[in-house]
Amino acid sequence: MYKDVICKRVDLCEKGKFSLMIHEFKNSFFVIGDHQYYRGYSLLYLKKHIRELHHVPKAEYLELCEELYEASIALEKTLDPWKLNVMCIGNQTPHIHWHLIPRYKDDKNHKELPMYEATRGEVDLNDYKTNSEVVKPLIDKIRKNIYQ
Ligand SMILES: [Zn+2]
Repeated sequence: MYKDVICKRVDLCEKGKFSLMIHEFKNSFFVIGDHQYYRGYSLLYLKKHIRELHHVPKAEYLELCEELYEASIALEKTLDPWKLNVMCIGNQTPHIHWHLIPRYKDDKNHKELPMYEATRGEVDLNDYKTNSEVVKPLIDKIRKNIYQ
């Protein structure tokens, strides 16, 4: 079976071997993103290998909405962003995942789409690669704000 990068990460999360894990929900894993160009950039991975949101059984879909809600509230409480961008696209990785991208007013392009500078080649996200030790206090803070 073909497995994309998200599938592999979900496998690691299930084995407790993913260092950027924030919280395990019933249907999803909430993790810190690979880069921190946007402080607090996180993702929510569906546990099941499904490509389309409307292919998720309806009862689980509704539970997932609540998990996304809890993750979003926890980010807001922790980071107080100007806006939280939430994206579920999956054109490159056929496994449902959301990008949760806190945006801040001091970002000169805060009214543009997320990753604006990166897609224009003005910023290399590798320069902002997440260091699991450095980000650990942030993960702890976000975790404490789940279901609070
Ligand atoms: Zn998958």
